[in-house]
Amino acid sequence: MVIDMKKCPVCEKGKLKEGTIEEEMFGVSLGKFKAEVCDKCNESFIDETAMKQLETKAKQLGIWGLAQKIKVVRSGNSLSIRIPAKIVHFLNLIEGKEIVVYPDGKGKMVVELT
Ligand SMILES: [Zn+2]
Repeated sequence: MVIDMKKCPVCEKGKLKEGTIEEEMFGVSLGKFKAEVCDKCNESFIDETAMKQLETKAKQLGIWGLAQKIKVVRSGNSLSIRIPAKIVHFLNLIEGKEIVVYPDGKGKMVVELT
């Protein structure tokens, strides 16, 4: 998110100050980045340069683009989802591995590796 004004656009009360924030993606730390941080609500905004650095780091770590849309397909009496190869690789998933699956509210499903 690129913001030029110094007033926080989220809470509209705080001021944005230069600071550093630690970014993470899919539970993996990407390191620290320069950011403007609101002194009231703590919301942070990074500029385009930091955004590029973040993207580069995520690509190096092999976690860039891990989130993707997949389709639910019918498989007998149940429904199946195919786990994309990138995620399989990232998690070192192998065929036959036991996983636990459960809903987290109505809009999310968690798949836990055991
Ligand atoms: Zn704020």
